[in-house]
Amino acid sequence: MSAFELPTNPLALHPRTRRQNRYVYAVRARRSRGISIGVNLDPQKTCNFDCVYCEVIDRREIEKGTPRPAIAVDEVAKELTEELSLHRRIAPSYEADPVRDISFAGDGEPSTFRGFLPLARALFDVRDAAGFRDVPFVLITNGSGLAREEMRAAHDLFTERGGAFWIKLDAGTEEFYRRICRTAVPFGHVLANLREAARRHPVVVQSMFLRWKGAAPGASEIAAWAGRLADVVAAGGRLSLVQVYTVARETMEPDVTALTAKELEGIAAVARAAVPGIPVETFS
Ligand code: SF4
Repeated sequence: MSAFELPTNPLALHPRTRRQNRYVYAVRARRSRGISIGVNLDPQKTCNFDCVYCEVIDRREIEKGTPRPAIAVDEVAKELTEELSLHRRIAPSYEADPVRDISFAGDGEPSTFRGFLPLARALFDVRDAAGFRDVPFVLITNGSGLAREEMRAAHDLFTERGGAFWIKLDAGTEEFYRRICRTAVPFGHVLANLREAARRHPVVVQSMFLRWKGAAPGASEIAAWAGRLADVVAAGGRLSLVQVYTVARETMEPDVTALTAKELEGIAAVARAAVPGIPVETFS
């Protein structure tokens, strides 16, 4: 069985399996190379980006102006407790991959949630009480909400208790960013948030590249993107890893297709030259 084929046990699951849950699910994830427990703070799928490669949000299904509901901390904590308990009880019966991380990801942008910090604190407590203290939390974010004070404090919390921020950077220029991420959030805002977060604690950068309407990103765009990474480092930011990946599943936009492993390696080589000493991994 290859690393990412579906196994026949109920724990190693892809796509997401939530059972009766509203917020917590399990997924077999390329990026974590094993089981990732996901915490989805946005079942209503409101995101301030509209990435062409998004796999979870179909704008046609979203009613404009739908208010984002408050997160029930107790409910999320209960679901996470049950999910971890399931993995603790059943995983040894199977040759299952271990739980690699617990990620705030899902169908929207977690860094924009008011009340993220108390929720994160509660879930760290759940993790520790369930005996998964060694499993890190990961915040997968487009970076747009990281300038908020509670997100800065959350970054401290993640660092102190075992976790990391994984921040998206899919472009080197404003024009390309607008074409791929289709958001009103200014590119400069996202770049500043990435830089400041990396100055606070080491971060992982996640970069998605793809073929859009038949065209791969040009050499000048990739050079600009690598230059943005170098800018972060030059400003005193610390990058623990750069992940270069491409689409692996069906996306909402039919004009999106995957790059080849060779193309990803070419992009990674540009990054390695721009930020020597920083690990750059590809996921094709
Ligand atoms: S930031 Fe994530 S959830 Fe939001 S549109 Fe982009 S891929 Fe989808």
